Amino acid sequence: MDNQKAMDQLTLDEAKSEIGPLRDQLTKWGREYYEQDNPSVEDYVYDRQYQRLVQIERRFPELITPGSPTQRVGGQTATQLQKVRHDIPMLSMGDVFSVDELDDFNERQQDLLPEHKQLEYNLELKIDGLSLSLVYENGRLVQGSTRGNGTIGEDVTANVMTIKDVPHKLKEPLSIEFRGECYMPKDAFVKLNQQREADGQPIFANPRNAAAGSLRQLNPAVTKQRQLATFMYYIPEYQKLGLKTQAEALDKMRDLGFNVNPSNRVISNKADLAQYIEEYTEKRDQLPYGIDGIVEKVNDLDTQIWLGNTVKVPRWEIAYKFPPEEQATVMHDIEWTVGRTGNVTPTAVMDPVKLAGTTVSRASLHNPDYLQAKDIRLGDTVMLHKAGDIIPEISRVIIAKRPADSEPYKIPTHCPVCGSELVHLDGEVALRCVNPMCPAQIKEGLAHFASRNAMDIGGLGPKIIQQLWDKKLVRDFADLYRLNEDQLLTLDKFGPKSADNLLTAIDNSRHNSVERLLFGLGIRHVGAKVARLIAEHFGSLDAIMAANEDEIAAVATVGPTIGQSVATYFDNSQVKSLIDELKAVGVNMDYLGSSTNNASENSEWNGRRVVLTGKLAQMTRSKAQEWLENHGATVTGSVSKQTDLLIAGEKAGSKLQKAQTLGVPVWNEERFRRAMKEEQ
Ligand code: NAD
Repeated sequence: MDNQKAMDQLTLDEAKSEIGPLRDQLTKWGREYYEQDNPSVEDYVYDRQYQRLVQIERRFPELITPGSPTQRVGGQTATQLQKVRHDIPMLSMGDVFSVDELDDFNERQQDLLPEHKQLEYNLELKIDGLSLSLVYENGRLVQGSTRGNGTIGEDVTANVMTIKDVPHKLKEPLSIEFRGECYMPKDAFVKLNQQREADGQPIFANPRNAAAGSLRQLNPAVTKQRQLATFMYYIPEYQKLGLKTQAEALDKMRDLGFNVNPSNRVISNKADLAQYIEEYTEKRDQLPYGIDGIVEKVNDLDTQIWLGNTVKVPRWEIAYKFPPEEQATVMHDIEWTVGRTGNVTPTAVMDPVKLAGTTVSRASLHNPDYLQAKDIRLGDTVMLHKAGDIIPEISRVIIAKRPADSEPYKIPTHCPVCGSELVHLDGEVALRCVNPMCPAQIKEGLAHFASRNAMDIGGLGPKIIQQLWDKKLVRDFADLYRLNEDQLLTLDKFGPKSADNLLTAIDNSRHNSVERLLFGLGIRHVGAKVARLIAEHFGSLDAIMAANEDEIAAVATVGPTIGQSVATYFDNSQVKSLIDELKAVGVNMDYLGSSTNNASENSEWNGRRVVLTGKLAQMTRSKAQEWLENHGATVTGSVSKQTDLLIAGEKAGSKLQKAQTLGVPVWNEERFRRAMKEEQ
């Protein structure tokens, strides 16, 4: 589809022969994107071809067919979820790619109105997620659904119920529908892909696809783990609430208890529009969620109705899409690293380039399939972008710049660390080293064992582990408990005090409740929460080891994959002797209940940086602070880019303003109280 002919020279016959393959290609990409949540090309590649189709159809309207991608919303509802009919269709949105095109759109829009007047617009961020409809009856959430093809969506009520910021009950007993965007915050996206990579599963291309894949699950427990969030932005039947403007509708939703993005701005001239676009083009990298543009909406709701819709898009709103940020660089090496679970992953090493605010010289290539599908070779000039604005990724190879003597990259057959043969386990895209004695895996495993949510051995980081390994002082977890001061004093930069601190931390970890050990062993699929559930249920490691996979799977939310993983892990003679050794060095093997289990450790609040401002009506600020700190959050006095959340009471002033400018999520007291209840 390169070398497309200039539009003004295209004949009808040429248009006819171009349009078929173009529609087929867009339909295929649409299916991958909307139905499988697994696009094979970047959005801007899709957008470019889509614009080509729009232009051909504009020049030759007789070629428009009802089945054309320009006449249809989204994809089909391909999952096994129940279907839901949208009485008011959920539409797509037109888009423009420059401020000039946006000005043209606005002029055309104003020409449609009875009198040509300067309209007032409400500007919003275009959240990179998927549309969500929420229906309430008498103030209670009764249905959540996806857009689907605009008329038929999927019923995701049970999944939506697991999203923390979606109110189950509104502050008023309303019977009405709300619409908005369900998205995955950037940090949750990064964690999810890291986890998927470690588990040998394919990664999600961007937070939008990750959110869609997570919301359209048959099992709500999976959705719950994925930490989805929402921003609500539309009340189709606004008349029922006596609303006049889009900005008022946003305020109303905020008051009812929804999460509403704080960055909207009402403007009425071109200069303010350009300023908003410029501001958020700058800020987008710092926001904790992905945005792919700005949405401009006619603020007056009756004028919206007057302007109406085409078959596919409203005439009263338009998306300004950010230009793709890409940089060319040369990839000169591929490094293979061995993770804790033996997963061997390739990383591209490139000449450093500045990209979206940071200097990038490395990008994960995820797994051999990914590397081969893109046919990336040493010495290639590659285009780099940031997936979901955060993760550097190679989008494509510039074939024209490929060195003449280039050869397809040969995937290693043996572990780069221990030399044993690499394998593909059933159904995995990952390449694995399955040698349990592989030093790389053992060192990664030791770092995990010592980590905060596992045995919590403060001071035992990767550098010290490397030294302990090199000096042959530690070969497995039990060896840690046999270390003595003389040995530690032989380590680089270790004096009596640091040796004593480390020995104390190691000694203290002997008395941990057993869920920390269970998590620290690094069993596949066993995270800190699951470890706690299993430990609580069985009471001791001996009981867990005696249980079969069905018994483990039967523990609440654990399920068969984890059941099998745990049972297989303990059914291994090397593991059994490791446990015996750990017992011999005095590591506790029993569940000690909440007494040693700090409430914060499993809390969603753990590690979040929160600021409190304004007057809280139902509790004092110090009570709120105490609760937050008990749940692992850090409460700070001022808002910065690092702040995860601002809780704003009445008469909140400059901190609220700053949070809004920085795009820091803001909750009111009611929203905070709901979260407190959910934690209990
Ligand atoms: P869209 O996602 O570009 O825009 C419409 C959607 O924006 C709405 O449905 C809504 O969910 C969302 N939105 C986010 N913030 C909003 C706000 N503040 N107010 C209103 N709506 C908001 O349109 P679409 O039809 O869902 O998808 C088309 C886009 O999807 C294309 O532009 C392309 O980038 C991408 N796509 C990519 C591929 C691919 O293969 N990479 C394939 C198909 C589509």
